[in-house]
Amino acid sequence: MSSNSQQPASGDAELTNSSIAQLRRRLESGDVRATELISAFAARIEAIDPRLNSLISRVDPVESADAGGRLAGIPYVHKDIFCARGTRTTCGSRMLADWVAPYDATVHDKLSRSGAVLLGKANMDEFAMGSSNENSHFGAVANPWDEKAVPGGSSGGSAAAVAARLVPFATGTDTGGSIRQPAAFCGVTGIKPTYGRVSRFGMIAYASSFDQGGVLAKSAADCAEVLGEMAGFDPHDSTSVDRPVPDYSAALDDSIAGLRVGVPKQWFSEALDPAVGDVVQAAIEELRAAGAEPVEIDLPDADLALAAYYLLAPAEASSNLSRFDGVRFGYRCEDPKDLKDLYERSRSEGFGAEVKRRILVGTYALSAGYYDAFYLRAQKARRLVAEHFERALEQCDVIAGPVTPTTAFDRGAHSSDPAKMYLEDIFTIPVNLAGLPGMSVPAGFVGGRPVGLQLIGRHFDEARLLNIAHQYQQRVDWHERMPSIAVDSSNQ
Ligand code: GLN
Repeated sequence: MSSNSQQPASGDAELTNSSIAQLRRRLESGDVRATELISAFAARIEAIDPRLNSLISRVDPVESADAGGRLAGIPYVHKDIFCARGTRTTCGSRMLADWVAPYDATVHDKLSRSGAVLLGKANMDEFAMGSSNENSHFGAVANPWDEKAVPGGSSGGSAAAVAARLVPFATGTDTGGSIRQPAAFCGVTGIKPTYGRVSRFGMIAYASSFDQGGVLAKSAADCAEVLGEMAGFDPHDSTSVDRPVPDYSAALDDSIAGLRVGVPKQWFSEALDPAVGDVVQAAIEELRAAGAEPVEIDLPDADLALAAYYLLAPAEASSNLSRFDGVRFGYRCEDPKDLKDLYERSRSEGFGAEVKRRILVGTYALSAGYYDAFYLRAQKARRLVAEHFERALEQCDVIAGPVTPTTAFDRGAHSSDPAKMYLEDIFTIPVNLAGLPGMSVPAGFVGGRPVGLQLIGRHFDEARLLNIAHQYQQRVDWHERMPSIAVDSSNQ
């Protein structure tokens, strides 16, 4: 079907499984031409993505403006929450199904300046609400390791695309776990930076006080390359932090000997599938073998964090999503009989069930009589969770634990029970409440499905997280394993 299927699978796989640094070297030496690289990945997308549905749209590659940039010629996809001028930017919603972004997100602008080549927009849960990618208007995404399983959400398309080696990296956003959880489910490496590290300008808002952009890639080394290009102060985002961006790649080889790794004892409880717990413990032992010192820490109230988040995030969402009214942009119903009908039907028809549920919860929580009982209390819980992390991070340099309580579940398993779905986020959400950086690193498999190790650092300690993850990845090869769909690309 595509020209790719005539190429020897091994040659193609070698190229598309290379690290970003290797690709850069090959491009610089002239061993591979930029157009060849783009065609190799585009051919994989064409051959493999029909089975995964990881992309909502393809984008015609534009040659990089700055040929000398660090990511010059490196293909990628954006989670479809990032605006890129002239591209359809749907946020996984019918509401924006035909909306073409008139401007660039700062993240897009930065990646373009670095020379990265956008090949598509990745599927996602509608407005980034979900943990399974089943909430997309554009259909569910299959997990490349097992097509019956969900890829996680909401950056499920990004994670599946990287796992299947359709692109070397993808952007994602993480409000309550949406980079780390799909990274864990798909066996790729993902980093959610400190709140404020990456600009939110041009990233469609879900819950503004939590939303943070980041990256999913094969390895910590690749994440380091990309994060350095995405991060930095942006005058267009009042919550972005004016602080220099370190060279994340420079610290990767530092020794982790003597580093104190805090292991939250409450996280290894009934909430955690014991087989997943074993994999995570083995990963922590590997860090010990590398010279780190695991120490037990106290991190109570993960359930409190969950409850607070599922009140605060909908509250912010209900306000952010009020702009989709059928008038200014996005979906508009047919033949409205008056203004009220226009608002009501445009929103009823444009939004999916989960988004409506969140708008209702959020509006209720913010309403005059209930503000103190719900919103204010949840804010207090948020403060408490942040304080627990602060205290814990005085006793250790970094925290290590599970990303998710289970491996990827089957499609449909939780669709009728939102509360069960929300429980998937129990280990990721507390990190967002505290605004801390977090990572998911491939650490093994249970029943053929990937397991992630979560690393959590102090504010702006991304370099350390990437360093530990890289040192771990020097000792293990979990991140190099590929699902069979990625290996045998001619077998569609
Ligand atoms: N699963 C969580 C939610 O549905 C987190 C989503 C996210 O991080 N965007 O809100």
